[in-house]
Amino acid sequence: MSRHSARTTTRSRWVLGALVVGLPLSLLPATAGAQPTAAPVPQTDRGWHGRPTPLPKTAVMTGSGGAVSSVDRDASQVGIDVLARGGNAADAAVATAAALGVTEPYSAGIGGGGFLVYYDARSRHVTTIDGRETAPASFTDKTFTDPATGKAMSFNTVVNSGLSIGVPGTPALWAKALRDHGTLSLNAALKPAERLAEKGFVVDQTFADQTTANAARFSVFPATAKVLLRDGKAPAVGSVFTNPDMAKAYRTLRTQGTSALYAGRLGQAIVAEARAPHTRPGTSVMGGQMTTADLRAYRALTKEPIHSQYKGYDVYGMPVPSSGGIAVAEILNLIQAYEDRTGVKTSALSDVDYLHRFSEASATAFADRNRWVGDVPGVPVKELTDPGFAAERACLFDPMKAQQRPIPFGSPDGSYTSCAPGAVSQREPYEGQSTSHLTATDRWGNVASYTLTIEQTGGSGITVPGYGFLLNNELTDFNFTPLTDGVPDPNLPGPGKRPRSSMSPTILLDHGKPFLAVGSPGGATIITSVSQTILGYLDRDLSLVDAIAAPRLSSRNGSSEGAEPQILGGPTGEALTAMGHKLASAGTPNEIGAVTAIRSLGQGLFEAAAEPTRRGGGSAMVVHPR
Ligand code: GLU
Repeated sequence: MSRHSARTTTRSRWVLGALVVGLPLSLLPATAGAQPTAAPVPQTDRGWHGRPTPLPKTAVMTGSGGAVSSVDRDASQVGIDVLARGGNAADAAVATAAALGVTEPYSAGIGGGGFLVYYDARSRHVTTIDGRETAPASFTDKTFTDPATGKAMSFNTVVNSGLSIGVPGTPALWAKALRDHGTLSLNAALKPAERLAEKGFVVDQTFADQTTANAARFSVFPATAKVLLRDGKAPAVGSVFTNPDMAKAYRTLRTQGTSALYAGRLGQAIVAEARAPHTRPGTSVMGGQMTTADLRAYRALTKEPIHSQYKGYDVYGMPVPSSGGIAVAEILNLIQAYEDRTGVKTSALSDVDYLHRFSEASATAFADRNRWVGDVPGVPVKELTDPGFAAERACLFDPMKAQQRPIPFGSPDGSYTSCAPGAVSQREPYEGQSTSHLTATDRWGNVASYTLTIEQTGGSGITVPGYGFLLNNELTDFNFTPLTDGVPDPNLPGPGKRPRSSMSPTILLDHGKPFLAVGSPGGATIITSVSQTILGYLDRDLSLVDAIAAPRLSSRNGSSEGAEPQILGGPTGEALTAMGHKLASAGTPNEIGAVTAIRSLGQGLFEAAAEPTRRGGGSAMVVHPR
């Protein structure tokens, strides 16, 4: 049986609890089969009574009872344990994310922000929570302009400074996700992470490498060096890494609630450190502008998702201030438009022709998002995600030849002609690469697709003394100065503004039922990794894990396109180069993305899938493996 026909038979849905297969009665809550009640009914604290048998680290696991996929084994296990004890997908997502804050402190945690896309099985509705970091009220569009030169400040100087630190949104998102969708209290959901920080986790090669890469800048900040370095170096691979200060931070949030951060002493400690970071004698960095009033003003926000359709599926993604949902929708629309123009299906293409199409689509979508998307009023969302706009943008597509980069941006004006070449092309804005994505589902059919970050690996490098977590450098996601003179830039800094993101937590529904949940880390490459995974699975005859593992190409309308070694160093790369693509190494490390995903197999079964090798490989788990 071909994979496609096999998939047709299994391509159904997350099924309600009555169909849970093989769930031991001892693990079923008293209400098994009924979905736990979400707010406004008062929350219960189910407590934390120790951990069942750990599951192995693997990139694919199939079974029932719910699923979690994250980049880290300990974190996935935390989420699975929550599900096994009767928690739902929102509970598992928050508990897993908090655990990632411990084991992936350079990519996730209390000091950062993120975006959650959530399918609620009871209402059959997809909604999102925007927990993005926010600029202080004092910011202006000139905050990152050097007054002496009138030019953009040095990026590296800003990163390692208080000026890059946005008001953290992650604790507010966790509390809101539990309030709106969960059954656990924040107290219960953060307990496993506190325990993990206290008891420690085993250092792996990725953690050691990320520490080594950041050791020089971490050593500038004594509180960071104390927590993360051992005699100025990375902790040894295989050693146990504890973080009692971070355990205290989780205990504080757990017992005092998020007001400890947004209106209490933990918040005061954040503000003090952001405004005047403690540095090693003889060194100094710029202070930031965050105030306790900025913290008090912070809210995690419910937003309607971006909705588009591709090959019969409903695709839901994150709206502004993320550009992820819009750009993924435009890429998929463009792939459809290329099929319509050429009469050749994506599934029928050679790898080279497929990657050519994918590159053209992503470069075009980036041209448009760079011009039109940011945390400003009036973003033409409907137009950018309209198949009519994609059809207009597809008119310059040549199946044999790459368009010259940068591709000019289009006019999403609601009036689509057969062709409207753009007039202005812009340079590529800079974005770092860090972040963590997790995906969780439960036996009731709820689905969480959640990407969280502290921006670049290691964030600002600044740790809140006594609390053991790094503060983000998310405000460097603003464009420091306008991308192009004379062209409005929606992503300049501003008071209380949220920097544009590329994070793309995504959920696909099939006839209204969850079908696939997917997301990735990787800065701007998130958009291409998520799109490429969806296309790999839907159009390229790849299993989900093979779609995740497939060699990546990331064209973001810059002068070159990032390509992983399997593409760059082989015949595929040569053929793409012959078509006019300017390929370059994916960077350091020489890899793109670390996707996690879950798909429904129907009958209450799930396939959890994670990255097999990148970043040391992720961890896919189900409550009851088959
Ligand atoms: N700051 C990036 C964004 O919001 C995510 C961090 C990263 O993956 O580099 O898109």
